Amino acid sequence: MRPEAREAVIAAMLAVGNASSPHVPGHAAASRVDTARRQVAELLNCSPGEIVFTSGATEANNLALRAGYSAGGGVITSVVEHPAVLETARELTTDTPGALTLLSVDKDGLVDLVDLYKALESSKISIVSLMAANNETGVLTDLTPVVEAAHAAGALVHTDATQMVGRLPVDLADLDVDLLSLSAHKFGGPQGVGALFIRRGADLPFRPLIFGGGQERGWRAGTLNVPGISGAGAAAAALIPKLREEQARVSGFRDKLETALTQQISGCYINGALEQRLPGVSNVTFPGAPADAVLTAMPEIAVSDGSACASGAPTPSHVLLAMGRSREEADSAVRFSLGHATTSRDIEAAITSTVRAVAQVRQALNPSG
Ligand code: PLP
Repeated sequence: MRPEAREAVIAAMLAVGNASSPHVPGHAAASRVDTARRQVAELLNCSPGEIVFTSGATEANNLALRAGYSAGGGVITSVVEHPAVLETARELTTDTPGALTLLSVDKDGLVDLVDLYKALESSKISIVSLMAANNETGVLTDLTPVVEAAHAAGALVHTDATQMVGRLPVDLADLDVDLLSLSAHKFGGPQGVGALFIRRGADLPFRPLIFGGGQERGWRAGTLNVPGISGAGAAAAALIPKLREEQARVSGFRDKLETALTQQISGCYINGALEQRLPGVSNVTFPGAPADAVLTAMPEIAVSDGSACASGAPTPSHVLLAMGRSREEADSAVRFSLGHATTSRDIEAAITSTVRAVAQVRQALNPSG
């Protein structure tokens, strides 16, 4: 967590007051929430009234798809989405065969726009949901043509921008999506808080997931998580002036890591469109070295095999399989995530440990090789 976010969380936890109560402590809590809403809106260049705070991006994705699907058409999304989108889309459309279109991706993880255009033409679609940046490979979606085509076909556009917000500039005055999900812990805020941007005037049926006291304009009932929300706002405010510098620094570290690994480890390669990626995600395959064994051989380095959200599940990465990798290749991929707090020393340590761990695993599996 960014220090500014930590301080805001602690300050809100030390205070008393329900943001919906009409007394002085209640007003103080409401004012913390107002500040945070302004700060998050500033990060996205939207209006504070367009932000609905949630428990994270999973909930924001569920809310967006559920409301969008209620508009009475099908759903288009892609095979490489986070499970919070994929599973929601599957669940919503389970009783309606043909209501879900899953777009495939090429070997670089990019969706083919022609497939999108065909899907928009072939049936009535109420919502298109494509992620802004992939959590496993960092590959970015060019959303502008997606928005143009979907709007021309009368569909709403949602983007899961969880990985992009706080890592690359997001300008909602320019990017005309109707709905956007984010999660605070991806940009230095606390875990367990996120938001859904709902564009004012978007033709979105009112379909909350959680009913109750009518908080968040009825979109998300329940006492507001004032410490979490304050932390999300403080993280946003802290990063805005630093975003460009962090982006340059992190991508420099990522390049250094990738150059060293590809030079020092035979056969290793990077997954995903190299020129169209987030600054801080590097997905690397080490042929002949299963990722679970590599991770076990370097527990001092906090990296992931496949998606962290799904780690523990013994299934190969659905993203790498969708990009045409074999099961063996997908099982030998490690995801390095770099952030605002990553240091040059971390990169040196990651290089040293990875080179050693891959050699050790290869040697153990193929002693004569
Ligand atoms: N979407 C993407 C792209 C993610 O990377 C994640 C988490 O890593 C989520 C959604 C889920 O976010 P949360 O844990 O805030 O629910």
